[in-house]
Amino acid sequence: MNNLMLTYQRLPISFKKGEGVWLHTKDGEKYLDALAGIAVNTLGYSHPKFVEAVSEQIKNLIHISNLYNIEEQCLLGKELAYLSELNATFFCNSGCEANEAAIKIARLHGHALNIQQPEIIVMDNAFHGRTMATLSASGSRRVQAGFEPLMSGFVRVPFDNIDAIQEIANKKNKISAIFVEPIQGEGGVNIPQNFKKYLKELRNICDKNNWLLIFDEVQCGVGRTGKWFAYQNSDIKPDIVTLAKGLASGVPIGACIASEKVSSLMTPGKHGSTFGGNPLAMIAGLTTLKIMKQEGLLNNALNQGQLICSLLKKHFSQNDKILSIRHMGLMIGVELNFACGALVELAMKNKLLINVTSDKTIRLLPPLIINNDEAKLVATKLIKSIDEFFEKYD
Ligand SMILES: *Cc1c(COP(=O)(O)O)cnc(C)c1O
Repeated sequence: MNNLMLTYQRLPISFKKGEGVWLHTKDGEKYLDALAGIAVNTLGYSHPKFVEAVSEQIKNLIHISNLYNIEEQCLLGKELAYLSELNATFFCNSGCEANEAAIKIARLHGHALNIQQPEIIVMDNAFHGRTMATLSASGSRRVQAGFEPLMSGFVRVPFDNIDAIQEIANKKNKISAIFVEPIQGEGGVNIPQNFKKYLKELRNICDKNNWLLIFDEVQCGVGRTGKWFAYQNSDIKPDIVTLAKGLASGVPIGACIASEKVSSLMTPGKHGSTFGGNPLAMIAGLTTLKIMKQEGLLNNALNQGQLICSLLKKHFSQNDKILSIRHMGLMIGVELNFACGALVELAMKNKLLINVTSDKTIRLLPPLIINNDEAKLVATKLIKSIDEFFEKYD
């Protein structure tokens, strides 16, 4: 027993130290981390340059109120504007907060269009967070159950289905935005059948109807798909994109980035955050992006993702219990034809940390610094674990 709320079903293990892609227990056992704190530890653990920059910042200034000009915030804002080809960022401390900001902007946009009760189109199986607005936007009963009344103003459609959205557009409606993860994370690593086409059609339908296109890239953003933003694997850009998880390699951060036109909807007093944009988080973000460039981690995400998946595909090509092995860069899903939650502990016995989401999908989100040998080891350990799992539960 401990004095924590039981919000998590925790695994019976704890770690004292991390180095690269490895986590160490206090007994000195080493685990290969193919989950990276759920896409958070972009640079793995204890990256020397990152530790140095963050330590230096702690010595100088950790927090200062947003009542003052924060130089580090301007610098990260500028960098994100450049990388996203959008304009202005609101900084906060987590993914759900970044999404709250996006939802508030979508409402401002709706009111600016004289829609009294504007609504946002959201997706089945979406995950946007645990605050009341973001759990209401999420498409999972598990996230919502017990917390009714949900927040109104969301209209749900199936993911990767333009017709369902077109049907809404064809009728009289109160829509002001579409809010979607380009690749669904918690929903089971769901990649649209034709990624480029789906995103292009989303963009077109938004342009025709004067809706905002909002991408939640809290999980798939920051280089994981081989581009800074997942949407950069298409030919379009959104009006708003949200980031969090991997942006500062473990230091809490959230970012809501918008185009010039849309960001001007926010004016002083409309939104805020006490901790958001503090110098420590900003330096952690700036340093993460800098090291990603120096070490070529976008390309590395592509190469290692390819390597892991090709090894998995080679081994499981004849296995009809594996429904699909899919990935974009280092966002990897292996879908089985039956529930496989028990695999997590089996993999742990093989000193590999993975996750199972949406009951049947093994999810890998390794640190982007993973090298060839480590990527091969992820594949080897996972293959061994899955084979053992099939023996045990078949
Ligand atoms: C994790 C996640 C969130 C929520 O982020 P928190 O930092 O836990 O609030 C929102 N959207 C997506 C796509 C996520 O993966």
